[in-house]
Amino acid sequence: MNSFNLSARLSAKQRMRMIVGTIAIGLMAPLVIHITVQINVKGITFWVAFADVLQKQFAPQHMLIMLSLFCLFPFGVLAKMTFSLASTRTRRTCYVIYLCGLIGILSLMIPMHVAAWNQMYGLSPKSFSGLLLLMYSAISSTATLFVGWLIGSMITRFKWFNPPPLGYCQTCGYDLTGNVSDTCSECGTTICSSV
Ligand SMILES: [Zn+2]
Repeated sequence: MNSFNLSARLSAKQRMRMIVGTIAIGLMAPLVIHITVQINVKGITFWVAFADVLQKQFAPQHMLIMLSLFCLFPFGVLAKMTFSLASTRTRRTCYVIYLCGLIGILSLMIPMHVAAWNQMYGLSPKSFSGLLLLMYSAISSTATLFVGWLIGSMITRFKWFNPPPLGYCQTCGYDLTGNVSDTCSECGTTICSSV
């Protein structure tokens, strides 16, 4: 498989890996945010923070696992959208749009999770508003997913992102089939000998 092949599509295996990877990122994100905030605000070590968040996942008064599953929603949408895109668009197009969508989710989800942590476990906890904030972050970061997706789609439509395929003039995109001279008959650019 040539990684420089610009027109390559995502293989079935790569699509599978993308879906599993996205779900993994979605499950890990709340954990990583929670642990990072705990370490910074409470000044505890990584392992103490790690054990604490694991215990909170299933403790009846926390049940963070339920919130994590709820927050998986935008990641599921991202995986589904990329999977649909993979049948018509090239691999690199899929990667760029996917990445923009992922940044779209995380750019809102991370600050909202930090804010929710403050509400639930910070200096003056008000657990109900923190809970609402987390639920709302799943919905609103689906909206920012679409914003990122749109920006990614726009990037992949630029001319520099889509160079003409071999056999076409690299300057103007003119079809060079049957051309025997060493210049493009459309724009006069010297044709590379490798074409
Ligand atoms: Zn040309």
